[in-house]
Parts: sequence; C-alpha cells; structure tokens
Amino acid sequence: MLNLYHHIKGAIYGFAIGDALGAATEFLTPENIRGRYGYLTEMSSSGVWQKGETTDDTAMALAVARGILDDPQNPIPHIGEHFLEWHQSKPKSVGLTIEAVFHTYQGDWFAAAQQVHQNQNGQSAGNGSLMRCLPVALAYDDLQTIEKITWSQSKMTHYDDQAAEACVIYNRIAHRVLHGEALHPAILAVIAGTRYASVQQHPPERSPDGYVVNTLSWALHWLLTLDSFSAVIQAAANAGYDADTVAAVAGGLCGLHGGFTVLPEDYVDSLLNKRALDEVSDGLWRLRLSTQMVTDV
Ligand SMILES: [Mg+2]
Repeated sequence: MLNLYHHIKGAIYGFAIGDALGAATEFLTPENIRGRYGYLTEMSSSGVWQKGETTDDTAMALAVARGILDDPQNPIPHIGEHFLEWHQSKPKSVGLTIEAVFHTYQGDWFAAAQQVHQNQNGQSAGNGSLMRCLPVALAYDDLQTIEKITWSQSKMTHYDDQAAEACVIYNRIAHRVLHGEALHPAILAVIAGTRYASVQQHPPERSPDGYVVNTLSWALHWLLTLDSFSAVIQAAANAGYDADTVAAVAGGLCGLHGGFTVLPEDYVDSLLNKRALDEVSDGLWRLRLSTQMVTDV
C-alpha cells in the first residue's frame, strides 16, 4: 500500500521544483544556457524570476487543484474562478493561448477557447493545459472520472484535441503510478500505440518548445532514459526552450513515483511558495481519504 500523502506531496513539490529550476532557462537555447550557466544544477534567479520562484505552470496547477477541492463533483466552474483570480493578480508570465482566452472569455470558457482556436488559424495545441493537469490524477481514484475532468480542464483554454489527448495520456500514467506501478512500465503501457510510442528509443526530433506534443515527448523521453529526479529535471532545464514546463511536467511524475523524500532537500528548501504547496497537498490527500472511505463503506 502506497503512502498516499508522501506520493501526492512528492508530485506537487516535484512539479514545482522542475518549474522553478527551468524558469531560469526558459526561452534560451542550449548554447545560450551553456554560456550563461555551464550546466545548470542549482536554483538560480533570472531577469524575471527570483531564485526558487515558480511560474504560471505551478500557479495554474494550484488553481486546478483548488477548483477541485472547492467542489469535487463539479470542479470546472471553480477551476475557472481560480484562473480568473490568478489572472487578476497580474502574473509575470501567461502563455499566449491562455492570455488570448482570458481576453476572449465572457462567461463560457469552452466558447472562448474555440474562438481563440479560430483566431489563431487552428493553432491551439500549446502545453498550457498539460502543465496544470496533474492535480486531477491526484484528486480522484476512478480513471474514468480522471479522464473526463482532465479532458474538460484542457478544453477550457485549448480547443485542439492534441492538447487534451496529451493531458489524458499524462494523467493515465500518473493514475497507474499512484496505484503502485513503477514509472517506466506505466509510461510504456500508456504510450504504446500512440504518437509518443517512440520516445524511449530516440530523442524527439523537434525542440522542447511550447507545442504540447513536443513538451510531452521530451518529458517522457527524459523520464524513460534518466534515473534520478535531479538528472531528469536538470536535463529538461538545460535543454532550454519551454524548459520550465518540460521540467515541471517531468518532475511531477518523477516526484509522484519516488515520493516527497526523494526530492533533494536544497531544492525543496529554496522554493518560495511552500505554504501553498503544502496546503494543496494536504487538501488533495484529505479528499482522497474521504472518497476512499466512502467507497469502502
Ligand atoms: Mg512557465
């Protein structure tokens, strides 16, 4: 029997650590990174982010978690309220598609996402819904419920099915790991027969940019080819482009699998938003406990 709290907290912190480490190298090329940092292994400040500060990725993942905790039976409207609250706080960074959806939104997220998809000439397969979807797999035990809410939360901002499909693949892996399966077999079982099936054999051909397929391909590639949490998130951070998101997406699954105690202490200590991460980890754990007790009865 897994220690649920240990693994849920590991996922939330693993995700946030990847985000904060990769924040220093976001939008840089690997060559730029080598010139500036050598090989980046420590939390660093950049022009935009303080050392240990997480970005929009963690903020939106926390928004999804809080929306679920508000009403696990009907989370989507609450997730939307937390998106709005976050956007009103004037965050330093918002993804292009998500920013466009905020400007278009008039009370219906799904309509706004579709409108933005049309305005962007059918291009809405960014990684902005993948980067926030992990809390859905942490909150619920039932795979069908996870898949349904994972898909819907993606469609709130990203109309393209490629984004929702990536989220569902990611959370299917998380679900298996949370049920005690080892990470590599869980990934391989889920990606078999999908467009991601080849990521173990060779690195993805395209750069780890904000296209959701590239983000997930690179995250899974690092997870399948490297052994430790630090090696995975450092590889993602030093590859540049959408480094914070790739490192967060990979770090979340790695932390989920290993649990909180495998995360290096200096990374954990340097995070600036530990109170929010603890609060959401506690909340998701309590929700799991309460629903499992109901199921057991
Ligand atoms: Mg970011």
